[in-house]
Amino acid sequence: MSAPGAAGEGRMEAVVVHEVGTYAHLRVPVPEPGPGEALIEVHVTGLCRTDLKLIRHGHRDLDLPRVPGEEVVGEIVALGPPPSEPEQHIHDSSAAFAVGDRVYVYPGLWCGRCPSCRRGAENLCREMRIMGFHRDGGFAEYTTAPLQSLIAIPDTLSEEQAVFAEPLSCCLNALELARLGEGEALGIWGAGPAGTLLCRAGALLGATPHVVEPDQRRRNYVAGAPGAPASASFAAAVATQVDVAVVAAGDPRAYTEAVKALSPRGRLVVFSGLLPAADDAFHISLNAVHYHEHTLVGAYGCCFRHGQAALDLLAGGALRVDDLISHRLPLAELARGLDAVAERSGMKVHLYPGVPAQACVRTPSTVKETT
Ligand SMILES: [Zn+2]
Repeated sequence: MSAPGAAGEGRMEAVVVHEVGTYAHLRVPVPEPGPGEALIEVHVTGLCRTDLKLIRHGHRDLDLPRVPGEEVVGEIVALGPPPSEPEQHIHDSSAAFAVGDRVYVYPGLWCGRCPSCRRGAENLCREMRIMGFHRDGGFAEYTTAPLQSLIAIPDTLSEEQAVFAEPLSCCLNALELARLGEGEALGIWGAGPAGTLLCRAGALLGATPHVVEPDQRRRNYVAGAPGAPASASFAAAVATQVDVAVVAAGDPRAYTEAVKALSPRGRLVVFSGLLPAADDAFHISLNAVHYHEHTLVGAYGCCFRHGQAALDLLAGGALRVDDLISHRLPLAELARGLDAVAERSGMKVHLYPGVPAQACVRTPSTVKETT
């Protein structure tokens, strides 16, 4: 693919959400990179449960109309003008990006000045602008991103592997906040892509993962996957007490089970949100928290440094992700990808904007077909 506008065309394939519940697959103008931004040709973008929620049900942080897509890997094809005034919060690594660089986009743009940013929790920045929510994301052939948010992809890493850095970053943030220690029992509720990445990352940190997944198809898929850690167990229900419980399923029953499984001084990580009605109805015993010295830990998104750590982990080869891609789809088949996420019939869905259907290499394996 050549740089946009070189042939005077200047338009691209994109998915645009104009109202919650539906989306349009359109040709729209290629965006212009603003000061301090890069124009990125999107090579692969991950579809996650958050995108499904955003498109079909809306999201707290969504501004419309919007091109969704917050898991983005691609190549810099143009640079915008330098920022008019030096951005004091831009970190050193944003200095040297050039056309042709392969980059992972940290999905957040943070202010660098507010209390959260100052304490290294820019994911909670009060001015946070998230790609795919507040500004356009990766469900398009091209997207713009601030240089501040870019991370170079190590040479040893494929783009398909690198795009896992976004969901993996969120898992690393959760495990960091839970203060997961070596030798600890790590309970994970839900064996979707996030639960599976939590399992693999937890094992690398020296914990023993216990994955709880009632869906037998999915449990078999992740338990039998080549990247499954030898130390991990997979079961339909929790069979042991855990030091850290991470709920990676938006199901209040999972939270109820996770609370019951906590050891004394155990930490419950609220990783998946609940639908408002389920959240309103959920009850947690403060007396149990009191008597067992439990800790309640919220985890939302990730910081820039988690993106760097995730790419390092992936590049090191100890954390395998290629066995988790169940669907490789052109952007025109987004509906199929959304259905796979909604029905939990796949694992990780990748989209390839600008690539015709026949060029997207298909893997036949889905959760349904492997069991
Ligand atoms: Zn901030």
